[in-house]
Amino acid sequence: MASALQDGFGRTIDYLRMSVTDRCDFRCVYCMAEQMTFLPRQQVLTLEELYRLAALFVGQGVRKIRLTGGEPLVRQGIVGLCRRIAALPGLRELVLTSNGSQLERLARPLAEAGVKRLNVSLDSLDPARFRAITRTGELAQVLAGIEAAQQAGFERIKLNTVVMKGRNADEVLDLVGFAVERGLDISFIEEMPLGEVGRSRDEAFCSSDEVRALIERGYALLDSAEQSGGPARYVRLRDHGQTRIGFISPHSHNFCATCNRVRLTAEGRLLLCLGHEHSLDLRGLLRRHPIEGGPVLEAIGKALLRKPQRHEFALHGEVQVLRFMNASGG
Ligand code: SAM
Ligand code: SF4
Repeated sequence: MASALQDGFGRTIDYLRMSVTDRCDFRCVYCMAEQMTFLPRQQVLTLEELYRLAALFVGQGVRKIRLTGGEPLVRQGIVGLCRRIAALPGLRELVLTSNGSQLERLARPLAEAGVKRLNVSLDSLDPARFRAITRTGELAQVLAGIEAAQQAGFERIKLNTVVMKGRNADEVLDLVGFAVERGLDISFIEEMPLGEVGRSRDEAFCSSDEVRALIERGYALLDSAEQSGGPARYVRLRDHGQTRIGFISPHSHNFCATCNRVRLTAEGRLLLCLGHEHSLDLRGLLRRHPIEGGPVLEAIGKALLRKPQRHEFALHGEVQVLRFMNASGG
């Protein structure tokens, strides 16, 4: 069945990203401020509400769900939630994005629960730099988590790297080498201006074209038309067929025309576009209509007609979206 969810520009919505918590054990410099206030627990959707929404969206034709956060693996009960969502009839794949800190313990239970693919963030291979970027993270723990994920039998594992000049841009080739050695994919992401993080984003900005040029110093690249249902553009390495390299380029290659997704924030706001504040309060609707799905679905259908045509991210000037990435279902 094709998805019944359409926006006002004729785009079909068949991909939902759900933030299961705004909390995190890291404080990455591009994602959070050093001092963060997290949502009171009663404002966060319960596991039951998350499941109910997943079921409603899948019933409307959503085929892919990504669980994210915050750090999804610090949410109590995450494995059970994955098991229930993965079993929804009609869902093609349940995938998850993690910082890797809890994977040593949770990789196998997640794979057994039906999570098909995993994205793991990895911004540096140097422990001191890794600590500086994540503010609290332990590189060795994340590397052990990646190793455990490889043993656990996911269909694919992809690394995500936000590239910043002066912090990790000089590690791009080493990170590609790390992915190649292990048969992993890797995506390089341009930093997005979400939330006020205490510095101007343009200082460290490194475009995907610059990243590509850095990789070409070490590897011959082959363009690829592959799609993973997300915003990345892919290339392959001529001499290492297994690894795909992705570029997520919100600034330099706008990807809005083919947008197929919406995001659910941890407090149950349906975000129609990462780059705008347009949203629908699903938590209120769910709590007012604890049994029947009709009113919730009707409101979702109407809200989709307000989905903006594109984001308007700019590198300079005022922060346009005050929401931090951890609160956005990034
Ligand atoms: N905690 C998990 C993690 O770090 O993978 C999942 C949530 S995190 C918000 C999802 C992805 O968003 C990560 O790959 C992270 O690097 C990326 N991210 C966070 N803030 C960003 C920003 N301002 N610009 C671009 N990517 C960002
Ligand atoms: Fe946490 Fe992920 Fe944000 Fe880093 S990017 S602070 S790991 S939510």
